Amino acid sequence: MQIQSFVPPVRTLMGPGPSDVHPRVLAAMARPTIGHLDPQFGAMMEQLKYLLQYAFQTKNTLTIPVSAPGSAGMESCFVNLVEPGDKVIVCQNGVFGGRMKENVERAGGVAVMVQDPWGRAVDPNKLRETLQAHRDAKVVAFVHAETSTGAQSDAATLCAIAREFDCLTIVDAVTSLGGSPVLVDEWGVDAVYSGSQKCLSCTPGLAPVSFGDRAVERIKARKQRVASWFLDLTLVMGYWGDKGKRVYHHTAPINPLYGLHESLVILHEEGIENAWQRHAQNHQALRAGIEAMGLEFIVPEAERLPQLNAIGVPAGVDEAKVRQRLLQEFDLEIGAGLGELAGKIWRIGQMGFASNPKNILYCLNALEAVLVSMKAPIETGKAAAAALAVATA
Ligand SMILES: *Cc1c(COP(=O)(O)O)cnc(C)c1O
Repeated sequence: MQIQSFVPPVRTLMGPGPSDVHPRVLAAMARPTIGHLDPQFGAMMEQLKYLLQYAFQTKNTLTIPVSAPGSAGMESCFVNLVEPGDKVIVCQNGVFGGRMKENVERAGGVAVMVQDPWGRAVDPNKLRETLQAHRDAKVVAFVHAETSTGAQSDAATLCAIAREFDCLTIVDAVTSLGGSPVLVDEWGVDAVYSGSQKCLSCTPGLAPVSFGDRAVERIKARKQRVASWFLDLTLVMGYWGDKGKRVYHHTAPINPLYGLHESLVILHEEGIENAWQRHAQNHQALRAGIEAMGLEFIVPEAERLPQLNAIGVPAGVDEAKVRQRLLQEFDLEIGAGLGELAGKIWRIGQMGFASNPKNILYCLNALEAVLVSMKAPIETGKAAAAALAVATA
């Protein structure tokens, strides 16, 4: 084995994440490492909390990045808010709802599942019926943006129903944050987690989370201490507490936090409403091109996630071969289906920095070229023009 520096190829990342990292984020991460208790680092942390509140549209004081990937954000919500014996209603409409169930059970809770078809939004009526049948439930958990299927659920309605039954809500906003509205205060979300590498266009490895007052009270009133030392928010809060009063917990990932900070500065500069609008418009542009090729979306229009397009694979096409050729010949990554959708769909992400007209045209043209050379039954010569018309409208 010849050992040498690793120099990755330059890819265009249009899968389910990670998405293309903004060059300004990579540049920020290359700045000098300073100590995590350095006052200047503390000042950066304060800005980071403020910028995360902006991203989540919340005034929650406990709004911080967990020093680990999105999955750790998920785990910190469950391990802190679920006590042994607690009943948790988990709405599942894809892969990530299944992970929520695992999290509930590992925290000693009892998961009651509300199942919806993969590729559809969570049905609020089913949640209501389940809550009526389980009056002792303490928490409702659901995935706002199901990256595995491209479906977006009505988080405002689901949170309002949970509140009627006096349940706390845990919301997965890993793929929605920065790409479509996540209105933590307006919707009354109690605990929410996200990831750095999807619509925030930062590198993977950080999990923004936010906990409201009711969630914090629940954590403080726990009878048993949190089983995970690292994710125990009563300890983490001290580390991310007010400037000057910070207590050592773990060494923050200094340079990745520079990156997250920069990615949020970029979001702040663009304006979050403009970012949502850009994702919506670019989704419509890609859609126009995909449909001009004769390909179809699997999610009904009203439930589609703008930043993740789940597209049916035409009959007789080897979907893995298409992805492999896109990667090898075009340096373009798109995603495969997961679970029951494996082999049936492609997942084209348009997240954050990667959601732009140039990528749309590149992706459509590359996909069309590969499908034509594999003799797939598609309409040719129309996709790029159809997408361009929408992108520049
Ligand atoms: C990507 C993703 C996660 C997990 O995030 P990681 O950073 O991979 O741990 C969780 N939930 C959803 C909906 C996701 O898309």
